[in-house]
Formats: sequence, C-alpha cells, structure tokens
Amino acid sequence: MKNIIVQKYGGSSVADSEKLKKVAQKIAKRIKQQFKLVVVVSAMGKTTDNLIKLSKEISINPAPRELDMLLTTGEQVSASLLAIALNEIGVKCKSLNAFQAEILTTGDFNQARIKNLKVKKIKDLLKEDDAVIITGFQGITEEGEITTLGRGGSDTSAVALAAAMSAKCEIYSDVAGIFTTDPRIHPGAKKLKYITYDEMLEMSSLGAKVLHSRSVEIAKKFGITIYCGSTFSEEEGSYVMKKNIEQPVVSGLSVMDNQTQVTLSNLPLDYTLVHQIFEKVAKEGLNVDMISIISNGGLNISFTVIEDKKAHVSKALSQILKGMKDLNIDYNSGYSKISIVGIGMKSSSGVAAKYFKALAGIPVKLVTTSEIKISCLVEEKYKEKAVKALINTFEL
Ligand code: ASP
Ligand code: MG
Repeated sequence: MKNIIVQKYGGSSVADSEKLKKVAQKIAKRIKQQFKLVVVVSAMGKTTDNLIKLSKEISINPAPRELDMLLTTGEQVSASLLAIALNEIGVKCKSLNAFQAEILTTGDFNQARIKNLKVKKIKDLLKEDDAVIITGFQGITEEGEITTLGRGGSDTSAVALAAAMSAKCEIYSDVAGIFTTDPRIHPGAKKLKYITYDEMLEMSSLGAKVLHSRSVEIAKKFGITIYCGSTFSEEEGSYVMKKNIEQPVVSGLSVMDNQTQVTLSNLPLDYTLVHQIFEKVAKEGLNVDMISIISNGGLNISFTVIEDKKAHVSKALSQILKGMKDLNIDYNSGYSKISIVGIGMKSSSGVAAKYFKALAGIPVKLVTTSEIKISCLVEEKYKEKAVKALINTFEL
C-alpha cells in the first residue's frame, strides 16, 4: 500500500465552508503525490467554546458525561463536512467518529486518556479509499461511553493515530510553526525550525498554547516527529523531534498569567507539616507549582497556584492548619510566571547569571529551575519589561 500520512487541521482551518473546501484541495494535492491520508479534524472555529457557553447558560456545573456528549458533536460536524468536500472534488473518502474508529480511552470524562487504538477499520477503508477523516478530541470507553481528551485534544488524537499506524504526522493550523515565544505577546518572535520533545513539553506546560501536552508525550514515547505548519501558506513550519539539530542554549520563552502566590509564615519548625500541607492540597486535586521553603527558627512556605483556585486552596489550608497560633497566610494575586526553556542549558554554564542580569531591577518573587528551564514569578506590571529583557538577552 502507499505510504500513509496523518494530518490534523485545527478549528480555525475548518472554520467555514470556504476553508473546508481549501483544506480539501490541500488534501487532494497530497493524495496526488501518492500518499494515503488519515485526516484528524477539530471542531469548526469557536464551536467548542460556544457549546460550553451554551451548557453554562443552563447549568454552572453540567455533568462531565453530558458535557462530553455535547462537545463531541463539534468534531462530527467538521469531519463529515470535510468528507463531503473531498467527495465533491472526486476524492474517495469516508469520515469516522471515535466509535467507528474504535479509539478507546479511560473513563475520565473531559480529560480521558487514549488507551488503545484499533486501526484495522481505518486500514481496511484505505484499501479502497484515499483518505479517512477522523473526529479529533473524542474517544469511547470499553463500556461504550463517549469521552473527550481535554481542550486542544485533537493534537493527541492525531499523534496517537500516527504512532498506531507508524505514519508521519503533520499538524496544520493558522500559525506557521512553533515560535520562540507567543507572537501575540512579542511580534518579533522567531520561528524555530526544530524543537525537542522535552523543550516542547516544558513550553506547553508553561503556558505556550501550541500543542496539547499529551500529544508530545506520545510522540516522545513512540519517536514520532511532528511537523507543525500553516494550513493556508506554503511557509516552512517547525519539527518537534528527539534532537535539536541547531542546539541553541535557550530555545523559547513562555509566560503564564493569573498566578497567585500563597505564603504561609510563622509555621512551627516541623517538617511533617510540610508533607501534610502538600498532601492536603494534592488530595483536593489542586496543582501547586513554584515552591520555596525557608526555615529561620520557624518555617515559611510559599507556593503558587492559578488564581481561580485561590478560594479552594484557602479552604483546604484552613482545614488543616486550624487552631495554629501566630500563623500568617497571605494570598497575592496578579503575578506572571516567565520561563526560558532550552535543551542546551544542560551543558552550558552562566545561563542563570545572564538571566538575572537581564532581570536586574525587577523584583523577582520566586524562582524555580530544572535541567532545561528557569522560571521566575513577577508582578504582572513587570511582565513586559522582563519579557523584553529576556528576549533581547537570549536573542529570541
Ligand atoms: N475542539 C476541541 C477544543 O476546542 C479540541 C481541539 O480543538 O483540539 O478544545
Ligand atoms: Mg488546538
């Protein structure tokens, strides 16, 4: 059989019928180059947002199962319309939803994980047809419930399909690749030709909204190179892969707003308390991020959470720390976390020195590092200044 390519088109690429027709042309062109295509689509434009909004008009807390029933309709619309557009220009193809394609997931509604993909049906169809269109973002459980993979999850559908079919993976959207930083924050951001899985994972967990993190994890696990390109231009995109051929020290910068710093001061010098606090927070399903623990006679603990979890954290902490005298808990909101990421940091010295030199004069509240990343927390009013300084220093 001809070589198979898995392509994914994001919501803005299939936002209306004209765009769907253009995507169909692009697919037809690829088929002429002697490939068979498996095409994963997102819902049209802002469909998913609108469906969520609609449900919230009825209930502030819709059942996760029902939400998935609702949200999965979006991808079924775009998949079938794309198949219709392709048939119209003479391409033999069919669309499949998660049931038909047998994309098996865990039962965690709204954030299910793909467990198994039976690609037999897709392969059978491709014996006759030139393309199969698959609804992204959705799956089914063994029990036949319909699930979704979390916002942006159709990237993950595409990479998982590519892994299961040992095929190439191409992800198309309205941005032509992966940039050193969000072009909306910094218009001078440069496009990266290559970025490693680890850098990409750091970037997406740090707030860069390029690829669904899970898709990069799967690509890393199965060694799938992901090409990210632009749907409607021929401009060369970026490759997410194992090695970064260009090996820059710092590849990218990302910013995450709406951070709250929680500071507990005057705790007794009792390290079991540290464990109890973080265990409680974890049990509540809260994600803490930057942490600092200082002992100066007593204990001072500081960590960050996203702003809208503040009330939840406060409730959890007051349950566990009730009755403790002199204890002070402060919540400071309106912070941004700014991070630089680069695989080359592992092997070069002086990155921290350069980083802090760039940030001279800016009050940095917290710092965390990993082998390939340095993050700092600053008040939002310093964000722009800090971002500019880091971009200039590290030539991003
Ligand atoms: N339509 C879904 C969303 O908007 C999935 C995706 O676009 O990948 O999150
Ligand atoms: Mg997306």
